[in-house]
Amino acid sequence: MGVDLQQLKKGGLLKQVQKEFFSLRLHIVGGQLTFNQLQMIAQVSKDFGNGEIHLTARQGVEIPFIKLQDFETIKNKLAQVGLEPGACGPRVRTVTACQGCKICPNGLIETKEFSKKIDEKFFGRDLKCKFKISISGCLNNCLKAEENDLGIKGCMEPEWLQANCIFCGLCEAICPVDAIKINYENRDVIFNPQKCIKCGRCVTSCSSDAWKGREGYLLLFGGRNGNVITRGKQVVPVIYKEEKVLSVIEHTLKFIADYGNNEERFADILQRVGNSQLQKYLKEVLESE
Ligand code: SF4
Ligand code: SF4
Ligand code: SF4
Repeated sequence: MGVDLQQLKKGGLLKQVQKEFFSLRLHIVGGQLTFNQLQMIAQVSKDFGNGEIHLTARQGVEIPFIKLQDFETIKNKLAQVGLEPGACGPRVRTVTACQGCKICPNGLIETKEFSKKIDEKFFGRDLKCKFKISISGCLNNCLKAEENDLGIKGCMEPEWLQANCIFCGLCEAICPVDAIKINYENRDVIFNPQKCIKCGRCVTSCSSDAWKGREGYLLLFGGRNGNVITRGKQVVPVIYKEEKVLSVIEHTLKFIADYGNNEERFADILQRVGNSQLQKYLKEVLESE
């Protein structure tokens, strides 16, 4: 009986150069693993593979040298520690994320729970093309938002609180785009919202709490890496609610279903139909409460 490689790929089994073996990709959301899961991965690699484990570019784990006949047994073992195979092919891939504000001092948004929420809703959904989502907790962009079909970056909209300001000058010095000018004579801070990139540095560095920050999500659409490289673009304004980000993802996937051709990447769809078409498509969800 022939082996359906596409079906195996869908289930996380990737064929190797060595014809009788497969590399098993695991579904690891936001790069988060527990001690028990790591132990089980090591055990499976020792018992069913050749002792090697590969860390992929998108925070995944692959166990190479797996035989097809062991797949069900391995799946059951992995399930004992809450692990399952990953997805390949034309569908929503595992959501990647950095440590975010719960661990990283630069983080502006929470990423661990949010990546799980996104993954639970969309992971493995069949599409006409692959679709990669990443979340970076701040504009340092460790998860390279622009390389993903949909990249999310945490950002922060600042608001100056005059009463708390001691005019130390730190925010002016630290702003990477000269969006802050201090008038020491008039004891005033002149903030230029047009220049501001919402990096939140003024908020996080002011020791007098004279900047209040509003957490937001900056979305980049249509990025990809590979033979053809396209940089994702910001086509909608910053979003301030998690639920709205989820709705935007939902509608973006619908957009691909409506406008995409088979195997056409999101970047190519946008190039063909135009970013303005996506903007129109997302208008209603962006304007909703
Ligand atoms: S993107 Fe920002 S929050 Fe995430 S790890 Fe990098 S510096 Fe930290
Ligand atoms: S860092 Fe804070 S206290 Fe210092 S000038 Fe800026 S707002 Fe004022
Ligand atoms: S958020 Fe960043 S870019 Fe905007 S004013 Fe503050 S430091 Fe400057």
